[in-house]
Amino acid sequence: MAGIFFCLPLTMIFSQKKGENDYQGKADLYKAKKNVLEFLGDSMIAKKFGIISDSIWNFAELGMQEFKSSAILIRTLEAEGFNIEKGVAGMPTCFVASWGNGKPAIGILGEYDALPMLSQKALVAVQDPIVPGAPGHGCGHNLMGTAGVAAAIAVKRSMELNNIGGTIKFFGSPAEETLISRPYMVRDGLFKDVDAVIDNHASSNLATGYGVSGNAVMSVLFSFKGRTAHAASEPWSGRSALDGVELMNVATNYLREHLYYTHRLHYVITEGGKAPNIVPDKASVWYYVRNTDDRLEETYKRVVDCARGAALASGTVLDTVIVLSAIHQKHSNKGLAETIQRNIELIGLPEWTEDENAFAKSLQKELGAEEAGYMAKISPLRQPSGVEIGGASTDVGEVSLIAPTATLNFPGAVPGIIGHHWSTVTSVYGKTAWKGLNTGAKVIAATAIDLITKPKLLEEIKTEFTGYSKNHPYKTFLPEGAKPPLDLNRELMDKYRNAMMNQSSEF
Ligand SMILES: [Zn+2]
Repeated sequence: MAGIFFCLPLTMIFSQKKGENDYQGKADLYKAKKNVLEFLGDSMIAKKFGIISDSIWNFAELGMQEFKSSAILIRTLEAEGFNIEKGVAGMPTCFVASWGNGKPAIGILGEYDALPMLSQKALVAVQDPIVPGAPGHGCGHNLMGTAGVAAAIAVKRSMELNNIGGTIKFFGSPAEETLISRPYMVRDGLFKDVDAVIDNHASSNLATGYGVSGNAVMSVLFSFKGRTAHAASEPWSGRSALDGVELMNVATNYLREHLYYTHRLHYVITEGGKAPNIVPDKASVWYYVRNTDDRLEETYKRVVDCARGAALASGTVLDTVIVLSAIHQKHSNKGLAETIQRNIELIGLPEWTEDENAFAKSLQKELGAEEAGYMAKISPLRQPSGVEIGGASTDVGEVSLIAPTATLNFPGAVPGIIGHHWSTVTSVYGKTAWKGLNTGAKVIAATAIDLITKPKLLEEIKTEFTGYSKNHPYKTFLPEGAKPPLDLNRELMDKYRNAMMNQSSEF
């Protein structure tokens, strides 16, 4: 890999001064930016990062258990001379990789966790698990951590080659699917020195946007304690902790009617007894309570009241209420999103082959979606809808209140597939997905170069952020003493890891 830049006839290619924006439509290729695009445009480099992404897809490690996935990214960054802080913010699979010195400091985010129960063979248009019940990459996070690392390395090489000062940082962020790492990373001050942060997410198109999106969340485990008894011969002696859980769920389901329409409320029962003939003395339910930043705490308080009422009604005790994570909505910076959009338009979508489109259409047919193949046209800059509609969340929201942040969506996934579903797992693997990853890395790297080499642009982005922050000062939703749940998913990974590794050579 070393020396790729040095092979290029750079003096022939570049006529603009470094940092000068001559770009109008299609020509913003000053030297530092040209360098990142040339590096990532090399087919061997693209393949190297594609293989890393496929490895992470095969590991399919759940949040907090991403030991192999974080290690492969760390090794790749270390080999490029990045300084790595491992196990940061109290999480063994969380890390920060830095290269360079001083300001400006630009951050790139990356995720690598999978989802439970979504094991699926790659590039087949029917549901077909590799290991039934095992995890799978149902959100494309294998592509995302890798795209961020590829971009960080491209930026570092360009900074080195062009003697550009400043710092490029990659934030290895575990357990995004359970919205865990960023509030703890923010609490530990990891983002306090960065001037701007570029986030990324796998998608079917190349797109970005700005404004407030998604919902804030409290992720909370409620545990009830009762008393065991023979469920048939002496039930009056028992107090069912499961009754506590069920009554709480009944109460929250009635509560929905009277919550503001932006809310989302969902749960899974994580413990509910072992046999019907024993009154369960322990039961737990895991809730995501979602609403807008300004409504979250009130909504959560009412859910806690439901738990208290359920304990009283069932004669049990609400034993523990453990906040696993708590996050804000995402507040994306307009100036940064516009900068990303200019690079989207500069770089454009990959060209898809006939075979690739044929696969996309077969998957779309299976799902009953429009059989249109891969995206052929980039999206315009997404503007705030103006209407709060609630919905899903990302813990990137936390970072967006600490530093100017925006998200690049990059392609690789088939349009019309379903998120957190086998159809995502099957399509975010292999050479077509690599093309999307590579395109995403180019846009991220080109944007980082803009931020590092154009002080006026960065200043404008920061000024927008400072103005916004005055009205949206950051205050964590985490209660004092909250800790990242390191044991989350451990049992599940222990159960499936070996079987998954035995199968992964098939791909
Ligand atoms: Zn995701």
